[in-house]
Amino acid sequence: MNKLEMLYRQVIMEHYKNPRNKGLLNDPNYRTLHLKNPSCGDDITIQSKINNNNIIDIRQDGTGCSICCSSASVMTETLKGKTVDSANNIIEDFYRLIKGEEPLDPDALEEAIVYEGVAKFPARVKCATLAWKAMGAILAGEEGERHEE
Ligand code: ZN
Repeated sequence: MNKLEMLYRQVIMEHYKNPRNKGLLNDPNYRTLHLKNPSCGDDITIQSKINNNNIIDIRQDGTGCSICCSSASVMTETLKGKTVDSANNIIEDFYRLIKGEEPLDPDALEEAIVYEGVAKFPARVKCATLAWKAMGAILAGEEGERHEE
């Protein structure tokens, strides 16, 4: 493992141990979406408050592996305060990164760049993208239960 990979791993473990924006709110102004990854047992719920095309807040809760839970934490920090359009672009870029493709705007990924190495582990791809898929679905107007196959 080189120095950069070690640094990325530290960021991932730090978010896993100290997750940001964790815990759901009982607030009707938030949209909620629950998503599972049966292949790993990851189970994530994302909530978001969106006003006039701006993402005011994002909450996350759930259980799963370190990649999935840390990625949910990183996602909330990366997309909070963004417009819906720029968040959708960042989500698409995150999928490119995870597939081993070149992101269009790597700087906009902020800390999410630490998941670059996941491209080498196809079994972990769904873990890394689960929270981002849930957020993407909320941005597309979905709510409630969704199951990832
Ligand atoms: Zn997982």
